Amino acid sequence: SIPLTFFGGIGAASRRGILVKGGNYLEALNDVRYVVFDKTGTLTEGVFEVVHVHAEKSFTKEQVLYYAAYAEQHSNHPIAESVKKAYNGKVNEGLITSYSEKAGHGIEAVVDEEQVLAGNEKLMNLYSISYSRASEYGTIIYVAVNNRYAGYLVISDKIKQDAKEALKSLKRLGIKKTMMLTGDQKSVGENVGKQLGIDEVYAELLPQHKVEKVEELDKAKEKAEKLIFVGDGLNDTPVLARADVGVAMGGLGSDAAIEAADIVIMTDEPSKIAEAISLAKRTRKIVW
Ligand code: ADP
Ligand code: MG
Repeated sequence: SIPLTFFGGIGAASRRGILVKGGNYLEALNDVRYVVFDKTGTLTEGVFEVVHVHAEKSFTKEQVLYYAAYAEQHSNHPIAESVKKAYNGKVNEGLITSYSEKAGHGIEAVVDEEQVLAGNEKLMNLYSISYSRASEYGTIIYVAVNNRYAGYLVISDKIKQDAKEALKSLKRLGIKKTMMLTGDQKSVGENVGKQLGIDEVYAELLPQHKVEKVEELDKAKEKAEKLIFVGDGLNDTPVLARADVGVAMGGLGSDAAIEAADIVIMTDEPSKIAEAISLAKRTRKIVW
């Protein structure tokens, strides 16, 4: 049974925008030694912006953006939202006759009877497209039309304002190791990790690889030590379920993630993790 005071702790947390789904999770926060983060939408705003378009010789920039925007039309991934926003033209949805979203890769669609691919290097490799790797810094979305490489978009995202302080606070609270798992490119993941002082960064991961990483860490740590995973939702549900405590961002997060999570941060601020741990520690003191 849960000591009554935990309900006081849960109430105090909820007044700070931290929804804790049970006293056992508040209790578990006391023993957290490992904090694993998703990147996009968790440590970064998850609001991308197209900053540059590159077209190969037989294409124009307008065409590259047109194909990408049509391919991304039915996706609500943060990347897709930025591409739709950058495209100014009207979209005739009737032209999109087929569409499929490949987790951790991108999109394959049929637009006006042409096959369009929009996604990362993994997607290009999956379809054996010969492309030249972009040397610009940013998240790169390659575009291919009828298996011909057409160009790429460079998109960028901003680190959340409180993210750096959030990581510092965790160290002060005795967290042994922080980790970031992302499906984004290595260069982008490592840059964000370095700016925030995250101990370990793993990039270019598919959703199932994120689960495997958490399982690995779970086996390596001592039993009494708890591991929490913090994610925004898109594709994060299996990892949220696998961690000792799954934390979801409630504002940006998908409904499925909010459902799968044990704790929901309504303000989307990563600094709330440290706040929740401090609160759990104070609550325990009152209980014992
Ligand atoms: P994260 O781990 O950062 O939350 P995801 O697993 O959602 O990222 O996506 C990983 C990568 O897969 C993205 O960085 C992008 O390269 C590619 N990707 C995913 N969805 C899309 C999309 N709708 N359009 C283009 N690329 C995508
Ligand atoms: Mg994600």
